[in-house]
Parts: sequence; C-alpha cells; structure tokens
Amino acid sequence: MEIAKTIKKAADLIKTARRRNKIIGFVPTMGALHKGHCSLMETSVKKCGCTVVSIFVNPTQFGPREDFKNYPRTLSKDLEICEDKGVDLVFVPTVKQMYHGKNLTWVKVEKLTLPLCGRFRPGHFDGVTTICAKLFNIVNPDFAFFGQKDAQQAIVLKTMVDDLNFPLKIITCPTIREKDGLAVSSRNKYLTPEQRKQAPVIYKALCNARNLIQSGTKNTERIKTEIKNTIEKAASAEIQYIDILDAGSLEELENIKGKTLIAVAVLFGPARLIDNILIDTKS
Ligand code: AMP
Repeated sequence: MEIAKTIKKAADLIKTARRRNKIIGFVPTMGALHKGHCSLMETSVKKCGCTVVSIFVNPTQFGPREDFKNYPRTLSKDLEICEDKGVDLVFVPTVKQMYHGKNLTWVKVEKLTLPLCGRFRPGHFDGVTTICAKLFNIVNPDFAFFGQKDAQQAIVLKTMVDDLNFPLKIITCPTIREKDGLAVSSRNKYLTPEQRKQAPVIYKALCNARNLIQSGTKNTERIKTEIKNTIEKAASAEIQYIDILDAGSLEELENIKGKTLIAVAVLFGPARLIDNILIDTKS
C-alpha cells in the first residue's frame, strides 16, 4: 500500500495505475475509520483494480462553532485498516496542500442543499462539494463510493457530478449499523455511556415509522409525530429535525408517495447524530 502526502505523488501513482488499465475506485473519508468506511472500501476493492482512500478532515465543511478541532484523528490505526482492506493508495494531504491558493473558487449545488442538514449547517455542503470536486480532479476515479448514512451528501454529490460532467459514477452503499441499530459514526465517540445507551432510539423511531407506513399510514405529520414521540423517550435526546421528503428532489411531502426519504438529526450532548431510511411505496 502506498501513502501519498502530496497531490503530485498521489496523481503520479494514480497515473501509473491507469496506464496499467486499472479501474480506479475512490473512497473519500475524514479518517477515524470504522465499519462504515470499511464497507465502502470492501465494495471498491471488489469492483475496482485500484482503490484510493483519502483521509482529510476538511476545514471548509465545518461551521465556526462545530467540531473541526476536536474531530477524532487516528491516522496510524486508519492506515492499518486501509492496509488490511487491500487499499492500494491512501492520500493524506495537509490543509495547506488542499487549500494552497487563493481559494476563491467554490462549487455550490443549489436547492438540494437547503433542507435537512443544510438548514442547520450553513455552508457545510459548499465545503463538501468543493473538496470533493478537488479530490475528484486529483484522483480522477471511475467510481466514487459514499454512504447512504449521509443521504443528502450522496444526492448533492450525484447532482454535482451530473451537472458538471465529472467522468465518474457515484455509488451509494448501505448504512452500516451497530448490533443495536445505531448507525456507525466517527462522532459516536463523543457519546457518554449513558447517551450511547439511549442513542439506538433514533433507528428504532425510523423502523417504527416504516412499520406505520407499511400498515397504511400516509400522512407525514402523523408519522413525524410518532418519530418525535419515540425519540423523546430518550432523556438526553434533543431533536434537530425530522423530515420526510421526496428522495429525488428533497421536497417535503404531505403524504408518502413513491421513493421517500425519512431523515433525522438528533443531538446527544456534543454529538450530532444523523440517520435516515429510504421507503419505496411504488405509487
Ligand atoms: P466521513 O469520514 O464521516 O466523511 O465519511 C466518509 C464516508 O463514509 C461517507 O461517504 C459516509 O457517508 C460514509 N459513512 C460514514 N458512516 C457510515 C456508515 N455507518 N455506513 C456506511 N457509510 C458510512
């Protein structure tokens, strides 16, 4: 496994892989690697002859009061995980490498970045799309793998790739969960043992919503109330949003129809946890 700290080294190694006719798979991450990241790497390794993982805690996607400084950084363990998963190249640039110039150019996806996390994290998605555009230009992958856990991110990036004609395909991989249903996240490290015990209530509420829909409930206000009531049973939970949207346009729905995204953000102390489920009612 190669490790590149500079853009030049990464680009040179990837050019060599391309000359050898390798399909390039790319898994962008912020490190603190866990089972969720591993599943993306495994999918890429299976599908592509050369898998590139980037580890970069991207400052431009954090708000001024967010956890950029305290975000978990576990590089040596991350590199072991990448090696173990059969990754070919890990790209670990510094902030200076990635933001070396005047940084006056931003990639902004409109409309889809307004609801859900966009409402509570102004500028977050501009940071995400800009860094991914830069990474896509450096790595030039055939496939890039993202998690369904960050559903809005995957939709926004698919739109960016389509609108700007990036020559790559984004593949969205399923959310990996702990045994008790909690979506695996680097931010789960922030939870106290008591908060960790309560946090599975998020997925439980989403599953209850799915059951409700399967038994015929269509009214989204009714479903949101059910989700709210379930989550509020956890004493430490502070709900940021519960939204039920069309999974393509991210427009709010009054009644469940077709492909629907049910997404929530819940604060447990300093940890802001997000989760979602997709429902297809085929109508
Ligand atoms: P992050 O390091 O948090 O920026 O995440 C890097 C990638 O891993 C993103 O595409 C995330 O959606 C994905 N990811 C994070 N957690 C999970 C999870 N529990 N299951 C599947 N993918 C995940």
